[in-house]
Amino acid sequence: MTTAGRRRFVLLDRDGTINVERDHLTDPDRIELIDGAAEALRDLAARGFGLVVVTNQSPIGRGMMDRARLAEIHERLTRELAARGARLDGIYFCPHHPDAGCACRKPATGMAEQASAEHGFELSECFVVGDSEGDIGLARALGATGILVRTGRGAETERAAAVHWDHVVDDLPAATQLIERLSPVLLA
Ligand SMILES: [Mg+2]
Ligand SMILES: [Zn+2]
Repeated sequence: MTTAGRRRFVLLDRDGTINVERDHLTDPDRIELIDGAAEALRDLAARGFGLVVVTNQSPIGRGMMDRARLAEIHERLTRELAARGARLDGIYFCPHHPDAGCACRKPATGMAEQASAEHGFELSECFVVGDSEGDIGLARALGATGILVRTGRGAETERAAAVHWDHVVDDLPAATQLIERLSPVLLA
């Protein structure tokens, strides 16, 4: 059982999980929510889950956009979610090039650790939802429950991945239903 009064958190990938995958999204106008994603997040929050996005944003490290542009993208994403009643507790990003060897690019745990320190949740009790091997790698590194969604690159990941997923579902709404089934203690 979770510690009384401590919220469980869902660590969410962004591209291909919440919004439609674009190869290196650098334009706020190209943000498009995946069907049902906002409603799924709204439902999770209503069940008491904390919601944090952890996203690799190598376009910054690649010189394709700056942090101000990424902030615009996240402002747009936040607004589109809010219009459908969903609110995130935080957005954490890794701005580094994949070759930088940083401690935050998924599957490394830096973003999750920062979120845990700021919001006070237990990493091993988290659910990690994403469409890429980096997401499941993160789940495994945290001892958390990993859920692969088939949106974005997920179907491709499901076919190719050598690593083991705890669960594979069609999309974020299905992941939400699964999380709610796996967490009956929160319904009491
Ligand atoms: Mg993704
Ligand atoms: Zn990084």
